[in-house]
Amino acid sequence: MHHERPSFLWYNGKMTPWDDATIHVSEMGWSTIGAVFEGIRGYWNEDQGELHIYRLREHMERLQRSMKLVHLPLDYSVDELIEATVELARVNDCRHDTYFFPMAYTADTYFARFDGLEVKTSLQILTRPLPSHLGGDKKMHAKISSWRRISEDVMPPRVKNLSNYRNGQLARQEVGIDGYDTAILLNTHGKVSEGPGACVMLVRDGKLITPDLTSGILESITRDAILVLAREVLGIPVEERVVDRTELYVADEVFLCGTAAEISPIVSVDRYPIGDGNVGLITRELDRVYEASLRATDSSYAEWRTPVGLAATVPA
Ligand SMILES: *Cc1c(COP(=O)(O)O)cnc(C)c1O
Repeated sequence: MHHERPSFLWYNGKMTPWDDATIHVSEMGWSTIGAVFEGIRGYWNEDQGELHIYRLREHMERLQRSMKLVHLPLDYSVDELIEATVELARVNDCRHDTYFFPMAYTADTYFARFDGLEVKTSLQILTRPLPSHLGGDKKMHAKISSWRRISEDVMPPRVKNLSNYRNGQLARQEVGIDGYDTAILLNTHGKVSEGPGACVMLVRDGKLITPDLTSGILESITRDAILVLAREVLGIPVEERVVDRTELYVADEVFLCGTAAEISPIVSVDRYPIGDGNVGLITRELDRVYEASLRATDSSYAEWRTPVGLAATVPA
């Protein structure tokens, strides 16, 4: 992975050279407590010489919903944001797996009241290389965190509200100190919610089971894709419902899923081995069909992909 900065970022409607996109230090502070963001991936297809952005419209529609929920005015249409992202991938010549990070926050907060509604939004879209780990041998040991997932009566768990993320971060830190790779958070009802920044799924008796959308989870686009692929491609039954903690301990397979997490197999929970302690068969099958849908190695689910047009251009 290379670490030089991208040439451009998209900042308040303009393709802006990286070094020119600065703000005053006094903007540190309240400006991001009401911020919302998106995490989007683009997958490089070497044979086509093309980058495919995954479910870009759904991500930008979720950004729009997140902004509505925290009362941040959005000055652009979803189509404009899609166009900006595609153009950014082209000007940065993203010929590798790429992470796109749009973030909206309240600008000019120094003289403003943090509880006011009269806010000005700044919106940026950043890119950076982020290699996929699909098809690899990632295996994680998980622990149920003693921190509970934020609940609907305190914060809005279903959107990517930046302030929410201290919750998952504390959980991840707690279990990391205890020697585990990832956390799973229960909700305030003591039922399974999700991992830090990723949804959780389990397989039992050939069925794919995941907490329902009222379990305090984020409305994940990957979760949706995996449920569709399990049903339509693998032909396995799926259940979205309340999940007990002990169902994880007796599951045949467990994994996390999300844009960043992709499919991350979990081989033990609270040191209970899952299945035979190796990555399960359905998890491996889902990994394979998910990667095909991302990387356009077959033509199905083309409606989920936005090719950015690099195939038509010469490498910079
Ligand atoms: C982004 C995110 C997920 C995964 O959502 P995707 O749309 O699949 O990327 C899950 N949980 C949290 C808290 C998230 O922020």
